[in-house]
Amino acid sequence: MTEKKHKPRLLSGDTSTGRLHLGHWVGSIENRVLMQDDYDCYFIIANIQALTTRMDRPADVHQNVMEVMLDYLAAGIDPERSTIFVQSEIAAIAELTVFFSLLVPYPRLMRNPTIKDEIRDKGLGDNYSVGFLLYPISQAADILSFRADVVPVGEDQIPHLELTREIARRFNQVYCHVDPHTQDADYLKQGGLFPVVETRLSRTRRLVGINGPGPDGNLMKMSKSLNNAIFLSDDPDTVKKKIMAMYTDPKRLKATDKGSTENNPLWIFHEAFNPDKAWVSEAEERYRQGTIGDVECKRRLIDVLVALIEPMRQRRLQYEKDIHYVKSILQEGTARANETANATLMLAKEAMRQRYF
Ligand code: ATP
Ligand code: MG
Repeated sequence: MTEKKHKPRLLSGDTSTGRLHLGHWVGSIENRVLMQDDYDCYFIIANIQALTTRMDRPADVHQNVMEVMLDYLAAGIDPERSTIFVQSEIAAIAELTVFFSLLVPYPRLMRNPTIKDEIRDKGLGDNYSVGFLLYPISQAADILSFRADVVPVGEDQIPHLELTREIARRFNQVYCHVDPHTQDADYLKQGGLFPVVETRLSRTRRLVGINGPGPDGNLMKMSKSLNNAIFLSDDPDTVKKKIMAMYTDPKRLKATDKGSTENNPLWIFHEAFNPDKAWVSEAEERYRQGTIGDVECKRRLIDVLVALIEPMRQRRLQYEKDIHYVKSILQEGTARANETANATLMLAKEAMRQRYF
């Protein structure tokens, strides 16, 4: 326990909008699994964030909290070393969201490129709620409630983390009287309450999905909400079907045509997942020359992905047999998370001179 205190704190998480996919693995989970020994890790299952686009589907959101939890355990997040919890059970997060919303000018929220992308990609039109716009502030509260030092995430999260950093600086300046010229790394030393978090990007910052380009002509990111994902719980047959049907170079009609490896999910996936780098660079060259077929390259990819996914899927099947045990882990994690977040909330209220009794 004392040893734990000296470790830097890490927070990361996922919205409960569906099962986890390969994008989550390369974007964040792989890093989290590796960092568990060296960091005091908190993993949030963000069900309120899921409700921001699914307020009319509460049963799905509930079910998906358990799906994400099963995927975490299957992927190797170890509840002995890490704390996993449900967002809506942590009241301190909601309270801090309200306080933090006072520190953010309204136009600042609308300038967030990830919010713009989501409005477009999820087809939200003009129908997004106030709560949807608020979610980046709520996410800042997720992170700051735990006074996390580092957050491992994919590229789409950079604007949200920038907002989190702005909120931390502003809170520290306004309520803890830290000089605005302070370096980010020095805010705590200067008497601030919240660390200005470090964004830890993965080796693959944005994995594309298995379908062709979206409305803007670019390949879309793999996403639970966009029906273009390979899940960590897909069985080998499903992986095979998805890869065989995946989008490649549309101009290449036969194996002897010269192909493009740019913006081609087949090669993006090989580069992200195939450990045999020598084969990948040689096969890419042959693909460009028209001396290797799609099918051969896809078969290779299927083998690589099944080797990665199948052990996770097997572990998941074991956990699925004892869902009460899985739930008890989540409940224990949530209780621990509440202790930490409540302590932060008290300190925040003290700094804001809003503790009355
Ligand atoms: P939704 O479609 O509901 O927004 P999502 O698939 O985008 O879901 P999130 O729960 O929003 O997943 O993201 C959780 C974490 O996984 C974040 O750190 C995010 O950056 C990362 N992530 C999600 N999709 C990808 C991807 N395709 N490539 C890299 N990282 C990703
Ligand atoms: Mg998302």
